[in-house]
Amino acid sequence: MRVLLVEDDEPVAESLRRGLLRYGFEVAWVTTGGAALRHEEPYDVVLLDLGLPDTDGLDVCKALRERGNVPIIVISARSDETDRVVGLELGADDYVSKPFGVREVIARIRAVMRRAQPRAEVAAAGPDRYGTRLTIDRKAARVRLDGEEVALAPKEYDLLAFLTEEPGALMSREQIMEAVWDANWFGPTKTLDVHVAALRRKLAGAITIEAVRGVGFRLEIVKGDAAS
Ligand code: CA
Repeated sequence: MRVLLVEDDEPVAESLRRGLLRYGFEVAWVTTGGAALRHEEPYDVVLLDLGLPDTDGLDVCKALRERGNVPIIVISARSDETDRVVGLELGADDYVSKPFGVREVIARIRAVMRRAQPRAEVAAAGPDRYGTRLTIDRKAARVRLDGEEVALAPKEYDLLAFLTEEPGALMSREQIMEAVWDANWFGPTKTLDVHVAALRRKLAGAITIEAVRGVGFRLEIVKGDAAS
């Protein structure tokens, strides 16, 4: 999925961009309203900051909406209720107030995309396949093992979705906690071990999750079929 990110604040944009990439989104980042309106590459959703250096983000919102139906999520530091109302009236699909977490933004993106996309199209996009046994349908947040749906708790799903973004990569506990639980996690990470154990149990034979002492975890896809 391609995101057009319109944000002049570099640290905000950079952390959002990195977070979105980690979740498999493609991100085109522009810093002005003018650049957003001139952007020619196709995109599936717009994340639009209201406080832009050249134009008011609300005008950009209006102009984008006049051109087509691409979902627009307004992001703003303005906590003013008027902005939210005006933004939605001008055609924005949703609104996120700063400060926000990447995961909140991703949840909003998925929600507006679900509303925007015809069901047939979602089905046609199909799930991601890992090895011969495991599939993850990231749009529907559904996991199947040998074709049978696996019941996962929400955080188990989030953890699996994160670790399968890059099978074989060693992810630190901090990276995992930040991505799956909270942007600023300083507490104990025992809950992570509990969730890893649940995934190992529920998806035995399809994946392995190796604990690397003092660092974190590495998920691998089991190659070959169940019989081998
Ligand atoms: Ca701004």
